[in-house]
Amino acid sequence: MVIVACGGTIAMVKAPDGKVVPFAQGNAMIDEIQGLSEIAEIEIVEFSNVPSPYMTPKMMFDLSRLVNEKLQEEDVAGVVVTHGTDTLEETAYFLDLTVVSEKPVVMTASMRNINELGTDGPRNVLSSVRVAASPTAKGHGTMVLLNDEIHAAREVTKTYTSNVATFESPGYGPLGIVDEDTVIFFRKSLVRRSYEIDSIEERVALIKTFTGDNGEILRLLPALEYRAVVVEGFGRGNVPPPVADAMEYLVNSLGMPVILVSRCPKGRVLDVYAYRGGGADLKKRGVILGQEVSGQKARIKLMVLLGWTEDREVLRKEFEVPMGQRRVIYDF
Ligand code: ASP
Repeated sequence: MVIVACGGTIAMVKAPDGKVVPFAQGNAMIDEIQGLSEIAEIEIVEFSNVPSPYMTPKMMFDLSRLVNEKLQEEDVAGVVVTHGTDTLEETAYFLDLTVVSEKPVVMTASMRNINELGTDGPRNVLSSVRVAASPTAKGHGTMVLLNDEIHAAREVTKTYTSNVATFESPGYGPLGIVDEDTVIFFRKSLVRRSYEIDSIEERVALIKTFTGDNGEILRLLPALEYRAVVVEGFGRGNVPPPVADAMEYLVNSLGMPVILVSRCPKGRVLDVYAYRGGGADLKKRGVILGQEVSGQKARIKLMVLLGWTEDREVLRKEFEVPMGQRRVIYDF
């Protein structure tokens, strides 16, 4: 079993002034977790020791390469990745889309730092190793484990700024749980897909629209050298009329891929409303509908897809056609 450490509160301590900071020996905590070596032989690899707001798409890409390499080793049953909670769901989804293996990848973290009362880091690592070592975890792709709940990378999101029960999968629920030393899966996500990529497109913006938005921010993107954008709209996938005009300008005058998602945490965007700025109007103007993934996840997917294809119709299919309705390359 390989544990790849990236940093985050799980590798941080409280300084004398009471504020939490990264700790150079943060990963030493892993060596001291009772019972870990009884589950699996552990190799710890330090990828980085950064707060997760410091993660970049390039780092995610390098991490994905490392995880793919480790999983190719015959005696490695799975990989656990420790990471900060803030952006964990983005790195998890990146790995889910780009790690091509049936072996499990389990990402974990902690909400409480190493020397805080009731710290959750050691328990989360222990349970993650249990999952990664479990034969039942095969074929689930990248999972997120905190607080003994197992979530699918595509579905999970951080919901609470401070509580240890912060990760939830709105509209789905967890894939399973760890109960003492038993790993239990209740279900499997049927809409996963992995892509073998050699590069990614990093210049992808994420813009959340707002009431009274005049589209000016979107129109600035080409000058700022962004190559694609995800727009987080309202409800079923609707935006103010000037934003619709700006989106059409980016798609049709500049050939930029523009993906529409919703700020609602549950449900798909769909071409239902035909008024100016409604989802049906946007689709007619060339905007791609991003289904039910969140804005931050749609951006990760677009960065990965643009490293794989520039073909607009293929991009549309990858976003718009539900997995059950098309042939898949890696269907675990
Ligand atoms: N700010 C921290 C980070 O994401 C929070 C955490 O790890 O829980 O690195």
